[in-house]
Amino acid sequence: MDFKDRVVVITGASRGIGEATATHFATLGAQVFLAARSADRIGEIATALREQGASAHAVACDVSDPAQVLRLVSEATGKTGRLDLLVNNAGLIDPIALLADSEPQEWARIVDVNLKGVYYGLRYAIPVMVAQGGGTIVNLSSGAATSALEGWSHYCATKAAVMSLTRVADREYRSKGVRVVGLSPGTVATRMQEQIRASGINPVSQLDWSAHIPAEWVANAIAWLATEEADSHLGSDFSLKSNEGRRAAGLPEV
Ligand code: NAP
Repeated sequence: MDFKDRVVVITGASRGIGEATATHFATLGAQVFLAARSADRIGEIATALREQGASAHAVACDVSDPAQVLRLVSEATGKTGRLDLLVNNAGLIDPIALLADSEPQEWARIVDVNLKGVYYGLRYAIPVMVAQGGGTIVNLSSGAATSALEGWSHYCATKAAVMSLTRVADREYRSKGVRVVGLSPGTVATRMQEQIRASGINPVSQLDWSAHIPAEWVANAIAWLATEEADSHLGSDFSLKSNEGRRAAGLPEV
């Protein structure tokens, strides 16, 4: 797929997987909209991309607020007239705690960001994509969607719910041209893994840093998922943990 001038919105684009994805699509010639709470940081990234000749915009957005997600989608469509790809990437894992030690408001905050934030993205992007005849939405998932890990009750529960949203959205809108797919990237060398390591709570926190893949690989996989080549994975979580998945996405094998 030629991404030249395609309109791509990425949430959680101030660092990690989101920043790498915005940079990758900008390099491919897309018009990228970077969203995150850290307005200064996404502004710096967008400015640097524009200085390299790319089309990049920063939109401050807290995905836990539906009005801000609507404004993000409206700003992208208002400036360009379309929305080709939404990457629902914004996510949190901290604070990591066993259930009996968890703080209810902090637990609920993870639901607001990891689950409701993805729902708001789907809610406001789908009508635009249906009206224009198609589009792709990639929801960042995790192996935690299907496995139990100590200290991650909020994260496991929200990622499982996001996987369910991916399946339902695909069921409802595939026939209208909207491609919805989840991506389970394995472990990725970002701040989230620094937080996991600092918690010391479950086996993921003990992994050697070299076990984590670079965020740029995930960006490449997202670009592949946005193409028809990945159509057989719509409505499911595509995993980068297997060599089969990595091969399909053009990444090095383990
Ligand atoms: P990260 O480096 O911690 O980045 C998280 C991003 O989410 C930041 O840009 C942050 O920006 C943004 N964010 C957090 N809360 C937000 C909110 N309320 N509104 C808007 N943006 C918000 O994490 P990452 O590793 O790149 O993770 C990205 C996604 O991949 C997450 O969904 C995560 O669950 C998933 N994932 C990661 C791994 C891994 O090993 N790293 C594995 C599987 C899945 P601000 O703080 O500026 O808002």
